[in-house]
Amino acid sequence: MPLSYVQPTADSPWGTYLSQIDRVLPYLGPLARWAETLRRPKRTLIVDIPIELDNGTIAHYEGYRVQHSLTRGPGKGGVRYHPDVTLEEVMALSAWMSIKNAAVNLPYGGAKGGIRVDPKVLSQKELEKLTRRYTSEIGIIIGPQQDIPAPDVNTNAQIMAWMMDTYSMNTGATATGVVTGKPLHLGGSLGRVKATGRGVFVTGREAARRIGLDIRGAKVAVQGFGNVGSSAAELFAAAGALVVASQDHSGTVFNGHGLDTAQLQAHVKASGGVAGFAGGEAMGLEEFWDVDCQILIPAALENQITAARAHRLKAKLVLEGANGPTGSAADDILAERGVLVVPDVICNAGGVTVSYFEWVQDFSSFFWTEDEINARLDKIMVGALNNIWDTADHHRISLRTATFAVACERILSARQERGLYP
Ligand code: GLU
Repeated sequence: MPLSYVQPTADSPWGTYLSQIDRVLPYLGPLARWAETLRRPKRTLIVDIPIELDNGTIAHYEGYRVQHSLTRGPGKGGVRYHPDVTLEEVMALSAWMSIKNAAVNLPYGGAKGGIRVDPKVLSQKELEKLTRRYTSEIGIIIGPQQDIPAPDVNTNAQIMAWMMDTYSMNTGATATGVVTGKPLHLGGSLGRVKATGRGVFVTGREAARRIGLDIRGAKVAVQGFGNVGSSAAELFAAAGALVVASQDHSGTVFNGHGLDTAQLQAHVKASGGVAGFAGGEAMGLEEFWDVDCQILIPAALENQITAARAHRLKAKLVLEGANGPTGSAADDILAERGVLVVPDVICNAGGVTVSYFEWVQDFSSFFWTEDEINARLDKIMVGALNNIWDTADHHRISLRTATFAVACERILSARQERGLYP
């Protein structure tokens, strides 16, 4: 029986996730018996977050924390602040975390949180109150051994510091391991901020090598110029690629000779978006999908590569920096067109991998150098991608279904070995 509390559609996030599970079933053998477990989040918490705004009024926000799976370890996944956040979206994001964590073999289940809010209209004080009250409300299910939040869309190290402090005050002990993505002074890890973008670059570099695409001189288009998109763009530019187009909520900029990624980052920091960047020309929202490029990096929100856009885009390689940017119908169109997609559940796993490093460093109170972190990240990402590639070749399936096959095998084997309680 489908869940009563969400009504997914074919390309809504949970609907997309369910169709990805349908596609992996034939490759699970006898473990398919346990597959229903993947279609149901283990635990779903919805909280009310009331705060007093600076103008004296009381505002209420909807908050969520979903623990999709705790089979392989504590829950792990980010917290998103966005006006369009819904329970259904957070469920899908938590499920993708279960797959992602298992795909890179981190000892975690999958979880995600979110608040339905536009943080850009809140003052720092209001943002802090919102974060502290949310953390208190979800405090009954998070913890260093239970579920470890991290940054995601519109959340950052400062927000993680408030979460860590609130949890620590409520429990009476300084608990650095309760969140990752913290500032360096509070048990944060070197390399964490750029880790997701670095993972996108590493998996992209390996995929490009395998399909004979030279990164030097390759044209790259990046949707989203936040933490993930800007870090990935910077690394591709450093490797000799031309970042020709970038799009975010504010607009689209284009430069056929390559955008200066450092200057664009400074512009975004100062003005809040890519629009108005002097080092490129403005372009229409839909035109972005027609840009002449070899590599496309969706690094914004879900369901951006729709079926219609999938027919149009020029890239040979799509690197999913965002979670869930491609619907299942679009996925099939890209496969038919011979466009290789490195799916989110491996492509953007660099962030949570360095979150894992941060958590381990916090427990041992022994901190690694940035070189050690980047080298370990590279090794884990390349190893995981090679394993997935072999699985894809063996079954003649897409990298996405292969990633799900590797991950679901790990999750469901653990499920079977643990057995049902009671
Ligand atoms: N929000 C990131 C993701 O979607 C990182 C999660 C984490 O570090 O726990 O993978």
